[in-house]
Amino acid sequence: MNTCCRMLPACLCALLLSWSAPSNSDTTIIIGTASPAGVYHLAGRALCRTVDLPCRAEPSDGSSANLHAVRRGEVTLALVQSDLHHYATTGSEGFREVGPDATLRSVFSLHSEPFTLVARRDAGIRHLEDLAGRSINIGNPGSGQRGTMMKVMDARGWSRSSFRQINDLPADQQALELCHGNIDAMVYTVGHPNSSVAQAIRLCNAVLVDVEGAAIELLITAYPFFTRASIPGGLYSPDQPAVRTFGVRATLVASSETDPEIIYRLVASVFDNLLRFKAYHPAFGTLTAASMIEEGLSAPLHEGALRYYHEQGWIMPREDQPGPIMVEDVPGELPEVSSSS
Ligand code: GLU
Repeated sequence: MNTCCRMLPACLCALLLSWSAPSNSDTTIIIGTASPAGVYHLAGRALCRTVDLPCRAEPSDGSSANLHAVRRGEVTLALVQSDLHHYATTGSEGFREVGPDATLRSVFSLHSEPFTLVARRDAGIRHLEDLAGRSINIGNPGSGQRGTMMKVMDARGWSRSSFRQINDLPADQQALELCHGNIDAMVYTVGHPNSSVAQAIRLCNAVLVDVEGAAIELLITAYPFFTRASIPGGLYSPDQPAVRTFGVRATLVASSETDPEIIYRLVASVFDNLLRFKAYHPAFGTLTAASMIEEGLSAPLHEGALRYYHEQGWIMPREDQPGPIMVEDVPGELPEVSSSS
């Protein structure tokens, strides 16, 4: 017990303790983002600027780490990839050990995140196939790109030994490793443009590589959260061609334990000021309210978000609520793809 409390009446003691307790930590919204080299951190900061509540965007290891942090109540909200969002909801892939997260809630989705393959120009990597036997960076543990790359490796029938070396560097270090010739290629599931890819292309003349083939077709067909994606030509340098790949969506999630009033206020401030929000980053340019509440969401919608969507008439209140937008019929295992693909 606090020393002064031994000598004071209980009510006075309680008053003193409440004065000395930190008061802002309870009310500050903390949004788990990812590496400052990506778009999530900018998105988190844009969300904080939009909402009229104390708010802080916190860098993290990425989607997978964020989903664990939401589950443990360490952050109020987090940005996560739609593929990992689904795995956490269902307790599959990297979330098998912890099991399905029944408390995970979707708030809305944001930009598209193409799975991006960047290679040293002199490495002779022209297709996904050319990665076999090379030194590559698949992202740090906890990152979303690592989760997506694991799925690509599965679909292609690759294991760690299919590569000369696999590095686990975070997004803000991988471009320099590429420039120094320590890796041949890096992968990043991320919105565009972003500083990691810009650094690789502008500082060391790296190239973007199309990510196509039978394994990718299989992923797109088997999983609703994987869709075709592209990176526009000329985004990073005048001679950079348009890139064809596949991708996921960035989504905003919270726990069912999070105060619905906080989520309601955040959601209302974003949708009431959507034009202003979209101006924060070019990757947000194509966002529409309809796509944000319909695409990439695997967990039930958060109560606070639903309240706003009901008020707007975007989602009809249902008696058997809450009405989750679920990704259904997702296979657990993929059939193997032949090595000639
Ligand atoms: N998609 C990445 C991840 O989940 C983060 C990308 C970003 O920071 O924009 O780790």
